[in-house]
Amino acid sequence: MKLGVIGGSGVYEIEGLQNVCYEAPDTPFGEPSDQYCCAELNGVELVFLPRHGRQHRIMPSEINHRANIYGFKALGVDCLISISAVGSLKESISPRDIVLPDQYYDRTKKSLEHTFFGNGVVAHVSMADPTCPSLRETMAATARDVIKKEGLPNCVHAGGTYVNMEGPQFSTRAESNVYRSHGFDVIGMTSLGEAKLCREAEICYQPMAMVTDYDCWHEEAGNVTVEMVMGHLVANTQLAKAIVIELAGQVGRERSCSCRSAMESAILTPAAAITDADRERFGLILARHADG
Ligand SMILES: [Zn+2]
Repeated sequence: MKLGVIGGSGVYEIEGLQNVCYEAPDTPFGEPSDQYCCAELNGVELVFLPRHGRQHRIMPSEINHRANIYGFKALGVDCLISISAVGSLKESISPRDIVLPDQYYDRTKKSLEHTFFGNGVVAHVSMADPTCPSLRETMAATARDVIKKEGLPNCVHAGGTYVNMEGPQFSTRAESNVYRSHGFDVIGMTSLGEAKLCREAEICYQPMAMVTDYDCWHEEAGNVTVEMVMGHLVANTQLAKAIVIELAGQVGRERSCSCRSAMESAILTPAAAITDADRERFGLILARHADG
């Protein structure tokens, strides 16, 4: 099992890595956000990518998720942890809590950028359970251990619905209240595309959503500002890195979940109708399915 970590706002590098080198794999889908940092951590091979680039120059709707996920696949990653900053939509989910989403609600207009398929090859993969249950279980236990060891009050919520809006602006209060009325848990701008593409790439994927604010619905907490977000972000960044270091030693050697075979029966275009040019264009995404 090769572990990938994609860092969000505040997480631009992981300290304490050994045998570090940087890779820039070619992808048929364009340029990833930055070079991938390939290293060892706790005896496990790890590949890290900062989602917004090391200098945070790429805003959420500009991220080339297809290139980012393809790059992880090209580097042999089969298990991806995604760290991101989110707003809470519930009183019971406080700033600095961690939510491990198991559902999404799509508020983007990016469906064509959230799939490797199209232009001659059609696939419909199940997203009923969009994140990896076994990775989530391991992540929840590890996060709780780290929080306990460090004596922090933060809660870990294993499960929850992540509303993916596009941004870059935060929500209006009307939008925030509509999401709350649906019972959704957190809101962010980046994870859904990664989840869909990891499913198509048959990579186990679980986001670790770190809460920075109450969005704008919480009258007493005041409207969300960059200053408020930054204070929680710094604390969350330290905690996220501590969890990743522990998690590297905990993630299993073998995958027992169904993520690794998600695309079986998902490609509707018959193998005979898939051209050599298609195979070249899709690269590793079709490699396992090339002979139908
Ligand atoms: Zn899995």
